[in-house]
Amino acid sequence: MQHRIKARKALSVPAPHIDKDEAILSSFLSDAAHVPGGFADGVAFPHNEAEVASLVASATRVLPVGAQSSLTGGATPRGEVVLSTRALSTISSPAGDSVRVGAGVPLKELQRVLAAVGLYYPPVPTFDGAFVGGTIATNAAGAATFKHGATRRWVNAVTIVLADGDVLDVTRGDTVASRDGWFEVESTTSEVRRVPVPRYVMPDVPKLSAGYYAAPGMDLIDLFIGAEGTLGVVVEATLKVVARPRRVAALVRCTDDSQAVALTAALRREAQAAWLGRGPLDVAAIEYMDTRALRAVPDDAFNRAGVARPSGQSVMLLLQIEIGSDEESALAQLQSVLTSAAIEDDPYLALPGDDRGAERLFNLREAVPSSVNAIVAAAKQAHPDVEKTAGDMVVPFGRLAASIDLYRSTLARHGLDYAIWGHVSDGNLHPNVVPHTFDDVRRGREAILEIAREVVAMGGAPLAEHGVGRSALKQQLLQELYGREGIDQMRAVKRALDSEWKFAPGVLFAP
Ligand SMILES: Cc1cc2nc3c(=O)[nH]c(=O)nc-3n(C[C@H](O)[C@H](O)[C@H](O)COP(=O)(O)OP(=O)(O)OC[C@H]3O[C@@H](n4cnc5c(N)ncnc54)[C@H](O)[C@@H]3O)c2cc1C
Repeated sequence: MQHRIKARKALSVPAPHIDKDEAILSSFLSDAAHVPGGFADGVAFPHNEAEVASLVASATRVLPVGAQSSLTGGATPRGEVVLSTRALSTISSPAGDSVRVGAGVPLKELQRVLAAVGLYYPPVPTFDGAFVGGTIATNAAGAATFKHGATRRWVNAVTIVLADGDVLDVTRGDTVASRDGWFEVESTTSEVRRVPVPRYVMPDVPKLSAGYYAAPGMDLIDLFIGAEGTLGVVVEATLKVVARPRRVAALVRCTDDSQAVALTAALRREAQAAWLGRGPLDVAAIEYMDTRALRAVPDDAFNRAGVARPSGQSVMLLLQIEIGSDEESALAQLQSVLTSAAIEDDPYLALPGDDRGAERLFNLREAVPSSVNAIVAAAKQAHPDVEKTAGDMVVPFGRLAASIDLYRSTLARHGLDYAIWGHVSDGNLHPNVVPHTFDDVRRGREAILEIAREVVAMGGAPLAEHGVGRSALKQQLLQELYGREGIDQMRAVKRALDSEWKFAPGVLFAP
């Protein structure tokens, strides 16, 4: 096994034009976290690896961005040149079970191209406008991580432009850490940089986007996946793909949290049996929306979905079920599980081929974050300092019920309005403060920090899928997870690969 990788030179081309026109630049100054005050030294749209390399080599500070759907402020510039990847938009013809894709391809577009040949890329976050490069940089996960895992598992190779403009072709299996914990990167000028593998132990959870991946004997590719643009620009990637599954979506009303947790546990058991060929009910994802989250959703969103607003303490679960040849057995088994869990209402179903029906149900799920975001935006009108204040917690599934109690009791003790939703089949929920004043935001941050400490004590993590970015709170959570020493070990990686702190300075940790 090799511990050293050799960089190559990109073709020599002029750097792409850096646009400083305010009208163009203004649409690149924030991301989905809506943190105010973004500013940039221009924006460039390289079309290929050579232009990326040329731009990076000549710039002092660079922030690579994709669709800027980051929820952490990581794609909000703070004076850098914004390197928009949107013109890196090539998709090669899928070959076997893989496809070579430019970093700037939106996942929705990738799925469209794959669907035409009966293929599918499973690890999609809820927002499918995210770009391939952005999802690799954040190790994005989503609803179906329960069955398919996070982005990391699906990336076979990446082409990376390093801070000096050198190019690395990193293929899974080619370069692994030495026994005493380092990689070596040999530059095109024969300089050898030793990159130390951090020594912290990552929590054993199904999804994690919490700084640099680290494990004994790890693959070099895993260092770049989830690095949030701090180590290099992802220019292209080779992704694994699968045959497009036929899917059923089912929306189920549960009378309360405990019924929802018990049903989720039963469905997970069914799914795990199905994956071993011992049952027909192949559940790929279960999404949870709590009473308060549903309350935030306006009536017209329920009407558009054709779903009755649930009453009392009801919560809802949205299931994605992958259907093999025996659709009838899968649906019969679903009914049997729902009956055993004492579910009172028939589920709302969208059967395979009913794409419109499925979209209506998914839109209702999407209405939850957008309705809460609208409340935050309205509060911001009166109190400009108000901002989204939310957790991205993951716990081992056995601690799910305890984690929901923890979120509710902590947020209530701080006197906060809140809503909870997320990817419950992974134990990954998003407790969101619904702030009405800046004081709510302040107390919300304290509550999230308290929750994070307990979640870490449960063997979970407070940074499941959205990453760390430039959020002061999330950077504090990263330190809760790995301690100061862990952050210093990450800094050592950064220094080895980007000694001048050219890429995304202030993302993950302070320079
Ligand atoms: C409504 C909504 C729902 C969401 N749901 C989910 C979800 O279910 N799961 C989830 O994981 N996330 C979710 N997100 C967050 C977001 O979509 C993901 O983090 C996504 O992976 C970001 O992709 P992007 O292309 O928008 O990247 P950006 O937001 O543009 O960038 C994110 C980070 O990656 C870096 N980066 C971007 N492109 C590159 C590149 N080519 N090379 C190197 N670094 C790069 C940036 O510097 C930045 O630090 C959601 C966001 C929204 C708005």
